[in-house]
Amino acid sequence: MDCISGSFTPIADILAGQHEGKPVQIRGWVHRARSSGSLAFLVLRDASGILQCAIKKDAAGEKAFEAAKSAYIESSCMLAGIPKKDERAPGGWELAASQFEFIHQGQPFPISKDQSTEFLLDVRHLWLRSQKLSKLMKLRHAALRSLHQFFDERGFFELAPPIITKSACEGGSTLFELNYFGSPAYLSQSGQMYAEVFMTALEKVYVLAPSFRAEPSRTVRHLAEYWHLEPEMAFYNQKMNMQLQEDMIVQTCHDLGKNQAELLESVERDPKKLLAVKGPFPRLSYEKAIEKCQALDCKIEFGQDLGADEEAVLTKDAAQPIFIHNHLKEFKAFYMREDPNQLGTVLSADLLAPEGHGEIIGGSERIWQADELKARMAEQNLPMKDYQWYLDLREYGSVPHAGFGLGIERLCKWMFGLDHIRDAIPFPRTINRVYP
Ligand code: ATP
Ligand code: MG
Repeated sequence: MDCISGSFTPIADILAGQHEGKPVQIRGWVHRARSSGSLAFLVLRDASGILQCAIKKDAAGEKAFEAAKSAYIESSCMLAGIPKKDERAPGGWELAASQFEFIHQGQPFPISKDQSTEFLLDVRHLWLRSQKLSKLMKLRHAALRSLHQFFDERGFFELAPPIITKSACEGGSTLFELNYFGSPAYLSQSGQMYAEVFMTALEKVYVLAPSFRAEPSRTVRHLAEYWHLEPEMAFYNQKMNMQLQEDMIVQTCHDLGKNQAELLESVERDPKKLLAVKGPFPRLSYEKAIEKCQALDCKIEFGQDLGADEEAVLTKDAAQPIFIHNHLKEFKAFYMREDPNQLGTVLSADLLAPEGHGEIIGGSERIWQADELKARMAEQNLPMKDYQWYLDLREYGSVPHAGFGLGIERLCKWMFGLDHIRDAIPFPRTINRVYP
């Protein structure tokens, strides 16, 4: 057998019953191993699934049998044999092996059962092969594909924002500074201001890129590096902006609930929860949200921004995501347009995911007139000269526009029913971890 040029069957095809009784070759990694007497059982894993393989001394020969017996968890190998139905095997199929060969026997694998979370994070580069993380990464892929499809169907263009920038979009305290050929620059906290540039060229656009936040707190929903999807639409008001978010969330949830039901169930997430998501999502003004929190015994005052605790209280028993809109101007970003019908508040909306997960989207109608933007920047003491290019957008053919930012890992945490955001991304970056 040659592991590159040979003809190998994906395990999923065998589990689907496509090769019953016919000889096949498979290749992959040892997921589980045990042996007794003249029989070795290996559960082999490839990208598509896991399959139990029985290697009998008399069928495969002494040499292959001895090799199979010496396999470690995660040894890479190839087998040939015949798939047979077997109720007792995982997935209902077993390979009766006639050949076994190592690709690389390797060393005893350092991960066994019941390891601490910290240890598993130390060996994340090996732990990503686990069934749990592999499945979550497949689901993440499906979620991203669904989002891309949603925007593609609506005529959006995806553009790439820079990652190294001079502008602090979301405020200075969580900026990662770097030495840019001798002068300070920052890792991007948001691609929004660049998405606004793209909007002036292509009207409906989105960026999908990492955002970096030096988050000082340890929470189950903050990463120092996360993937941020930021659509920006010309000629959109806040109402249209919120409708788009709702449609996006409903379509993505339904796509996954319908087309990834088996994977979701295998990570113990009920796909029905996603299929039940439907608009219109409840909408609550900031003011009403504060009243509701106070009624539910949260210690929050009017004038304070909602935090994780309040969001959890508001969404704990909810089945649908909730919009919180019209936040106070003083604690929201400078680019959000003041609501002419409710001065002192901005045309903002955060979308909170249900079941206690909390904020997954922050969005708003943007200030599109130069005077208004300059006045707000002055109020917030922002250095005009760093933002000259952004102000320029309001000097040359400015148009009303709106947009939002969706945290991909926050969305995944909710959709996949995770307790912690770290398993929504292959290598989570947090305050105490940048290795591996
Ligand atoms: P929070 O109050 O939860 O910190 P935020 O108000 O700082 O969120 P925005 O600046 O509006 O968030 O960013 C837009 C979206 O990006 C959020 O709704 C969330 O989905 C995501 N996001 C923000 N910070 C993080 C982070 N540190 N880790 C993962 N996702 C994040
Ligand atoms: Mg934040």
